[in-house]
Amino acid sequence: MKLYELTISHAAALLGRQELTSQELTLAVLERIHAVEDRVGAFITLNDELAMAQAEIADKTLSEGKGTALTGIPLAIKDLICTQGVRTTCASRILENFIPPYDATVIKKLKATGAVLVGKVNMDEFAMGSSTENSAFKITHNPWDLSRIPGGSSGGSAAAVAADMCLGSLGSDTGGSIRQPASHCGVVGMKPTYGRVSRFGLVAFASSLDQIGPIAKDTRDCALLMNAISGYDPQDSTSVPEPVPDYTGFLNGDIKGLVAGIPREYHASKGLDPEVAQAVNRAIQTLQDLGVRCVDVSLPHTEYAVAAYYVIAPCEASSNLARYDGVKYGFRDKTAGTLMEMYRNTRSKGFGSEVQRRIILGTYSLSAGYYDAYYGKASQVRTLIMDDFTKAFQQCDILISPVAPTPAFAIGDNTDDPLTMYLSDVFTLSANLAGIPGMSVPCGFSTKGLPIGLQLMGPHFSEGNLLKTAYHFEQTTDFHKKKAIL
Ligand code: GLN
Repeated sequence: MKLYELTISHAAALLGRQELTSQELTLAVLERIHAVEDRVGAFITLNDELAMAQAEIADKTLSEGKGTALTGIPLAIKDLICTQGVRTTCASRILENFIPPYDATVIKKLKATGAVLVGKVNMDEFAMGSSTENSAFKITHNPWDLSRIPGGSSGGSAAAVAADMCLGSLGSDTGGSIRQPASHCGVVGMKPTYGRVSRFGLVAFASSLDQIGPIAKDTRDCALLMNAISGYDPQDSTSVPEPVPDYTGFLNGDIKGLVAGIPREYHASKGLDPEVAQAVNRAIQTLQDLGVRCVDVSLPHTEYAVAAYYVIAPCEASSNLARYDGVKYGFRDKTAGTLMEMYRNTRSKGFGSEVQRRIILGTYSLSAGYYDAYYGKASQVRTLIMDDFTKAFQQCDILISPVAPTPAFAIGDNTDDPLTMYLSDVFTLSANLAGIPGMSVPCGFSTKGLPIGLQLMGPHFSEGNLLKTAYHFEQTTDFHKKKAIL
């Protein structure tokens, strides 16, 4: 096994026993990045020197026997999480040269563990998209088939983990942006409960939906990253003062007798690819063989979720993105003669077309006379969707469904068709509307060899149950062990 292929837990064991140094590991990962980046296109900013310096410090800590599970582990960070002194672009021209003066809370936490941050990874501009094709800088390719999208918006994170260009990554999920790329790239991704992880220093897209979470090679690594980033933060008023358990402690727990709800609206969904349905059905069978009891449940308002999300998210985005006006930071058009012209030119040149579409949609939906009809109605639908979950969780402990209706599609296939792109979020965005945790774990491959993910969702703060179920599933399957050949 090559060093860059190691999981976090395996590498941590070797580092802890001093059978490996972080400098050796980090060097191997950096060499891997340089060898495959031309084909994968995962990174926006690479920090070779900084990473090696962090590895040297980590080795010192380890040699004193003081390391933790992430000390010396090379990680990649989605480029909308602020890193002090390191460019944070959100894959947008408007922030192309933005260097944050502070670290996001999750970065502070990772640095405190001694993790090595190799670089910032690609995404859809401001996290708006499902394919990473909306990046202003580059296309990221799916390591399993370079002609296909890696998913999005955390496509750089998922591709980098799948291609062994880091041992783990952080992404963000507003409507599926961790789970869907994890599913398309054959890796594990978790969107935590809203409020579980601090959003301080996460560049805001839709503040009531955004959540940072891990993308990793397996469930144990996902749990280790959750341990490091979770917790209350006085700098994020929506973070919740709920104690953080050791998530690895759940993995070996019993799953016999666990009740899994199969939401019938998801499984009967019209756009569901038969190969995805088949892989998910087989996974359900595997879980039943492990002692999970499956029951039929209904989430009756599912058909309204996409419409509600695509009003609420653009409304919040239009408000959040108002700050990019060329005055304080980021790109400014210098050709303008008047202030109004400067605003207009800055925003027209600085934002890509999908971001502009969302700003226009959101501004319209929030405007006087339309607010009640759009934002107001969408918020009411959101409440109904939350109630659907509350009722479902009276009958079951977790929900099992597909992550995305199809495996990864070809680059360019849906770029002219925003509606098809939006519809591909049908299984993931309800969890954001309800604030509940969800994760994707590899559960099969299509006949073309493309990964397929299984989605597990649960009540607020039930991450432990999701990780436990995913871990048991991994123990009897080997989908997560398969590697893309590059
Ligand atoms: N694909 C969804 C969107 O475009 C979700 C994105 C996300 O979760 N950041 O809004």
